[in-house]
Amino acid sequence: MTILVLGAGVVGVATAYCLARDGHAVTVVDRQPGPALEASFANGGQISANHATPWAGPATPWKALKWLGRADAPLLLHLRADPALFAWLWRFLGNCTTARMQRNTERALRVALYSRQQLAELRAETGIRYHELSRGILHIFRDRAEHRAALGQVELMNRLGCRRQVVDPDQCLAIEPALATVRPRLIGGIFSPDDESGDAYAFSAGLAERAAARGARFRFGAEVRRLTATDDRVAGIELADGERLAAEAVVVALGSTSPLLLRPLGIRLPVYPAKGYSVTIPVAEGGIAPTVSLIDDEVKMVYSRLGDRLRAAGTAEFIGYDASVEPKRARFLLDKAMELFPQCGDPARAELWAGLRPSTPDGVPVLGRTGFANLFLNTGHGTLGWTMACGAGRIVADLVAGRKPAVALDGLELARFR
Ligand SMILES: Cc1cc2nc3c(=O)[nH]c(=O)nc-3n(C[C@H](O)[C@H](O)[C@H](O)COP(=O)(O)OP(=O)(O)OC[C@H]3O[C@@H](n4cnc5c(N)ncnc54)[C@H](O)[C@@H]3O)c2cc1C
Repeated sequence: MTILVLGAGVVGVATAYCLARDGHAVTVVDRQPGPALEASFANGGQISANHATPWAGPATPWKALKWLGRADAPLLLHLRADPALFAWLWRFLGNCTTARMQRNTERALRVALYSRQQLAELRAETGIRYHELSRGILHIFRDRAEHRAALGQVELMNRLGCRRQVVDPDQCLAIEPALATVRPRLIGGIFSPDDESGDAYAFSAGLAERAAARGARFRFGAEVRRLTATDDRVAGIELADGERLAAEAVVVALGSTSPLLLRPLGIRLPVYPAKGYSVTIPVAEGGIAPTVSLIDDEVKMVYSRLGDRLRAAGTAEFIGYDASVEPKRARFLLDKAMELFPQCGDPARAELWAGLRPSTPDGVPVLGRTGFANLFLNTGHGTLGWTMACGAGRIVADLVAGRKPAVALDGLELARFR
């Protein structure tokens, strides 16, 4: 089958690889000069199936109110006359109940746990190296109330197939000795030994090469202007320079941009960009930096060691499609990282970055079929695109081929929003 995969982020590349391995004639189209140069470029590096809890939960609206007006708030809402934002927020609020959160967690976990397995298989099959570390993720707490609330989640997550262990401050230090500076303020932690970390960009670049070796074509620097359709089928795409590409099937993996290209076809996809920042600090020789991936609950930041670099990431800003780096926001992350790991390296050499998470209001990606028989979606992975990419790629490749995916699709498809 001739298949167009739109978008060469980690999700599009994983999908393209699975399709090429299945023997299809795949063309991947992306506006950037190479793979994974937008949201997948410098993310938090966590492959965190055990943290597939969506943002929308019963405590979230109250936390958001508490953070209002704080320049250093982990979540910033820029209210603007943007109907897509209001529609998204309305749906988000509808998901902020305990029952919805539990349902959405189960759905996201289904993809994330499957993805961990698929990533391990791909790693073994391709030999790709991406500064991968399988040392687990340690979630640390300095606030008693937040810690108590998180402990309430442990049982649910373990029931859903995760392995989360409650650990005391000394155990936190034993797991990650680089936390010594913060030890006096630690209340405790939750350790998920099966989680992993690694560089999503390096992985995507390596997988794109393997996909090309299996015959996939990559059209970089090619902006998709629109999808062309007749009745219930998509014919192909038109590029910004007017060139048309036809295909028997099309997969949309355009990250945050996905809804903009689907809307002219009458497809309403509730995906909205949630901007986040990262800072990447070169670890000095003899520098003290963690090797276990971390979540610092107090400032809602994550840390991953990527070879000789330490990546710190966080913040969520609803500011539309602006992915520019606001130096003050990035510096906040850098300051927090240096507070936690003062001897990790030289902050003046840190690289600052911002990207747009393609977020759904329920925290579950949108995979699979649309009203058009040959148009498939693989988007809306939000905070967990790296975590879910390999599983989501396999699921969508199976659907395109007319095979039954290994995981149940209920609650993952676009139809759930109707
Ligand atoms: C600060 C931050 C930290 C994060 N941390 C983590 C983490 O620790 N773990 C985790 O699992 N996830 C994390 N994420 C989320 C993860 O990075 C994203 O979910 C993931 O990268 C989304 O991948 P994608 O391929 O769907 O989107 P993208 O990587 O954005 O890919 C979409 C592609 O489509 C292309 N495109 C868009 N429009 C067009 C067009 N019109 N024509 C042609 N091409 C187009 C773009 O160039 C891009 O390459 C984080 C995100 C951010 C921002």
